Amino acid sequence: MTDTLAPTAVPAASAPAYTVAQERKIVTAIPGPLSTELHRRRLAVVSGGVASMLPVYIKKANGAIIVDVDGNQFIDLGAGIGVTTVGHTETSVVAAAVDQAQDFVHTLFTVTPYEEYVRVCELLAEHTPGDFPKKSVLVNSGAEGVENGVKIARKYTGRRAVAVLDHAYHGRTVLTMAMNYKAAPYATGYGPLASDVYHAPSSYPYHDGLSGADAAARTIGYLEKVIGAADLACLVVEPIQGEGGFMVPAEGYLPALQQWCTANGVVMIADEIQSGMARTGKYFASEHFGWVPDLVLSAKGIAGGFPLAGVTGRAEIMDASQPGGLGGTFGGNPVSCAAAIAVFDAIEANNLLGEAQRIEASLTAGLTVLKEKYDIIGEIRGRGAMIAIELVQPGTGDTTKLPNAAAVSAISAYASQHGVLLLTAGTYGSVLRFLPSLALSDALIADALSVIDDAIASL
Ligand SMILES: *Cc1c(COP(=O)(O)O)cnc(C)c1O
Repeated sequence: MTDTLAPTAVPAASAPAYTVAQERKIVTAIPGPLSTELHRRRLAVVSGGVASMLPVYIKKANGAIIVDVDGNQFIDLGAGIGVTTVGHTETSVVAAAVDQAQDFVHTLFTVTPYEEYVRVCELLAEHTPGDFPKKSVLVNSGAEGVENGVKIARKYTGRRAVAVLDHAYHGRTVLTMAMNYKAAPYATGYGPLASDVYHAPSSYPYHDGLSGADAAARTIGYLEKVIGAADLACLVVEPIQGEGGFMVPAEGYLPALQQWCTANGVVMIADEIQSGMARTGKYFASEHFGWVPDLVLSAKGIAGGFPLAGVTGRAEIMDASQPGGLGGTFGGNPVSCAAAIAVFDAIEANNLLGEAQRIEASLTAGLTVLKEKYDIIGEIRGRGAMIAIELVQPGTGDTTKLPNAAAVSAISAYASQHGVLLLTAGTYGSVLRFLPSLALSDALIADALSVIDDAIASL
């Protein structure tokens, strides 16, 4: 470990040396025999409440490729749900984590602190939107970040109510399962749900056709009538909704909500857990919409796969909490923090904002060709390496836009059989989402899209 944690001049990785050939290769049935055997063991001891999309067991991952125990290589378009944004086993991130693990793995920041935690908070203050003093707290998971954002907003405002938007996803803890739009599978049977959580209408331009101003007026109307600003602590919003189906809000929607929140003393929180950390071609997706949130939640991509989350925002809001009110045993783990510092460095050194823009251009060009060919592709949307297609029933795309979940399942299943790991999403299960690592080359994009083309043709 170097003397200082300040960013060092890392040579640009012009030709990254991969330890796994960046290619798709299927050598057994999917799942193969070794995966099948592991799955048999798993069924005996792993809770049935934990599902796996594809029961192939992973042996190695590098760049944009994951390799299973049977030697099959998949183009990974999911990146562990947007976590390995810098690429699987990115050299500098792995090295930073190994170095840190050799120095020390844990002390607990609330017992004896360390520089790595402070450095991550400096980087978050620097790179989250807004030019004002900011502070952070580091925790372990996205949902824990959401929980802390709500706690911090309640403490600062002295108010009780939490508002979220339709189609939102915020986690699986007792509070956050009440904040999701879909009950199933996240909340079914796990009630009673947390109280004082309200679900306001969102902006979903493909279906509601509303301008940003009109959609914001509808949301604000709900907040004022159903809750009342005087009781509202916070409004929690994903700038581009993740699990809901990568909905990009209409122009002006988010700034209008922030303006209303500011005028009414409501803390507006950007849940950037999926959309943040270079994923969309900006450090944080809020920047695409001219939105400067009061608090920003980051997690998934922040530490290259190590568990870490942050709540970052206006210093006066973050400081309203009493000493000891925030924290937890593993929050801001040193190894995760060292990895996160390396991720911030890699974003600069490897021009990852540019790489996300390249992926957007390459993916949307290819998907546009498919959209012209197949009328079940209703819409292509998203930013950077967060792109989705919404599938509709044949012939309904220009009018009723009826969801086509069956096609989504069939395409995803076909793709995985052919070495492409493709995630689904959407309130109605009708969205295929592309959430790759930024190491995904244009050649791999073309190859993956040819598989998806075949998959749609086979329907
Ligand atoms: C994944 C996700 C969460 C929850 O994060 P976990 O680390 O799974 O708890 C919350 N919000 C958004 C937008 C997410 O994508």
